[in-house]
Amino acid sequence: MAKKLTTAKSRIVPATSMPLMGSDADFLRFLVDFVQHTLNSFREGAWMDLIEDLRLFIGEEEGKTCGFKRADIIATQQEFAEALRASLDARQTYLSTLDPMLAGEEIPLLDVARPTAASMLLSTQAKVVLDWGPHGVRAKVISSHFRDHFLFQVSQILLRNGIDTIRVCPRCSRVFYATHGRQKFCSTQCGNEASWQRFSSQHKSNPRSPTNKGPTRRTE
Ligand SMILES: [Zn+2]
Repeated sequence: MAKKLTTAKSRIVPATSMPLMGSDADFLRFLVDFVQHTLNSFREGAWMDLIEDLRLFIGEEEGKTCGFKRADIIATQQEFAEALRASLDARQTYLSTLDPMLAGEEIPLLDVARPTAASMLLSTQAKVVLDWGPHGVRAKVISSHFRDHFLFQVSQILLRNGIDTIRVCPRCSRVFYATHGRQKFCSTQCGNEASWQRFSSQHKSNPRSPTNKGPTRRTE
């Protein structure tokens, strides 16, 4: 199901108070939203908002543009979404073997060391250079392709943050950004639904158990 991007909440920052860059948490939130949009169904207004957000995401300098062709954006999104899912699924297989006994405990995450970022290749015409700006030295990419800018920015963010904060909700399969290490579900709703499902399946197998008082409500 497509999620609308055009709500104020899902924007990186409000356009009126646009800083040079948002925080990495903002970027990661935007990223997990972006990979799950059905871009083909976007109307004109949603496209304009998305492109504005993507400009912020790649840190586009004023007067320089990488074109933002819609076909390139769609192809890049699909390529990245596939790579991200594949690496998250590898971790999810591991997580699912730990299961429900560990719910509420610190979940040891297998270190899936930045596979998407490291293995994604930029186009041959892309050039990575060091930029001495007012905020110190940083690497940037020079290219006229949106894909190069996008993948480069993703690799920078994942190198700083790792991929552990990006997870797949075991209830609804949505990719989400985890705000703390123990967050297993994308939302309180999914956490509660999973608790109820676990409770009712336990209750079915052992209806007379005196300890079956109902599931504990989760906070996320
Ligand atoms: Zn969920």
